[in-house]
Amino acid sequence: MRDNARLSSSCGAHQLSEVQAPIECEVVIVGAGPCGLFQIFELGLLGMGAHVVDSLAHPGGQCTELYPDKPIYDIPALPVCGAQELIDRLMQQIKPFNAKFHLGQEVTEVRALAERLFFVRTAVGTVFHTRAIVIAGGVGSFQPRRLGMEGAERFEGDQIHYRVKSAASFYGKDLVIFGGGDSALDWTLDLCGKARSLTLVHRRAEFKAAPASVARMRELVTAGRMRYVEGTAAQLILADDRVAGVEVHGADGAAHRLPAQQLLAFFGLHPKLGPIAQWGLDLDKRTIRVDTVKFETSVPGIFAIGDINSYPGKKKLILSGFHEAALAAFAIQHYLYPEKKQHLQYTTTSPIMQKRLGVAS
Ligand SMILES: Cc1cc2nc3c(=O)[nH]c(=O)nc-3n(C[C@H](O)[C@H](O)[C@H](O)COP(=O)(O)OP(=O)(O)OC[C@H]3O[C@@H](n4cnc5c(N)ncnc54)[C@H](O)[C@@H]3O)c2cc1C
Repeated sequence: MRDNARLSSSCGAHQLSEVQAPIECEVVIVGAGPCGLFQIFELGLLGMGAHVVDSLAHPGGQCTELYPDKPIYDIPALPVCGAQELIDRLMQQIKPFNAKFHLGQEVTEVRALAERLFFVRTAVGTVFHTRAIVIAGGVGSFQPRRLGMEGAERFEGDQIHYRVKSAASFYGKDLVIFGGGDSALDWTLDLCGKARSLTLVHRRAEFKAAPASVARMRELVTAGRMRYVEGTAAQLILADDRVAGVEVHGADGAAHRLPAQQLLAFFGLHPKLGPIAQWGLDLDKRTIRVDTVKFETSVPGIFAIGDINSYPGKKKLILSGFHEAALAAFAIQHYLYPEKKQHLQYTTTSPIMQKRLGVAS
């Protein structure tokens, strides 16, 4: 695999890429859900390398984001497997292929540059020149649910945040955190005492977060180290065109005016097809049409597997995506190297596959 870039192999969360030049590669996989991860494996077995991009800060797609602790019962040969466990096992299985992960960045732009060469750009500016693309985008990229207050978008990334890029940027500030899940409570506990003042706002009395975190937060409130308000965000308080605070409609009927130079909101994520819809592919509602031999889209060289694709009889199951990944890998190999004879080889007996897997004796 050609890979001449000074790239940041951003396998860690929230890392911004510091790519100076386009990353040249054979295949870019959009989406690190279970199907995108298995695509790495199937490409690797055939000797092809991949770069993987996901808008989430971690691999796993829906399994990790929506139901990590739930058991899955229909993965072949695994009578029961936790959703996060499945992702952990896939990550272990693809290790020999050394795929490069670019996490926490949405793929925003895909276009043809020349024959068998595509331009791919992410929201943080990482650019790939790739010879093939696999879209394993599931139900779309996960976007944060936003604060519904008028004018809030204008301050996003500056004074209003939906994820913590640098905890230190909240130190010494008046901070209001919204939400009742683990992220909201974890950051509340972490930043209490470091922020100048901290108020947690949650719309109802019940919390989704771990009971121990909620109990600790209540202790801090009792000790006078932070405030808690049950209510919802109503409007921003501005001074000199900057956010100076937020007005919250309390469940007690009162309007609470809270000082804040920084607001953090953790209302969860929702999937959005997003930029994929703009890439000139033949769509069927919110899915991409593919054939069932190559799982290729209407654009030669761009393939789609997993929940994102559609074809007659499609079932949105992980095992369907695994099958699609296997056939797409053969199709990609043929697309990139048409002169190469394709023989079906078994991992049990193929010395070359065993070498690629790092298990050759
Ligand atoms: C509660 C629940 C239970 C389920 N139980 C089962 C089960 O028991 N058995 C089963 O087979 N299936 C089950 N499913 C379905 C299964 O989770 C999906 O079929 C599977 O996750 C699809 O995998 P995927 O890799 O295609 O997509 P996803 O898991 O959706 O991953 C897609 C990834 O692509 C990323 N992405 C999308 N667009 C972009 C972009 N433009 N740039 C960067 N990244 C992008 C997303 O952030 C996401 O991480 C369940 C689903 C749910 C919600």
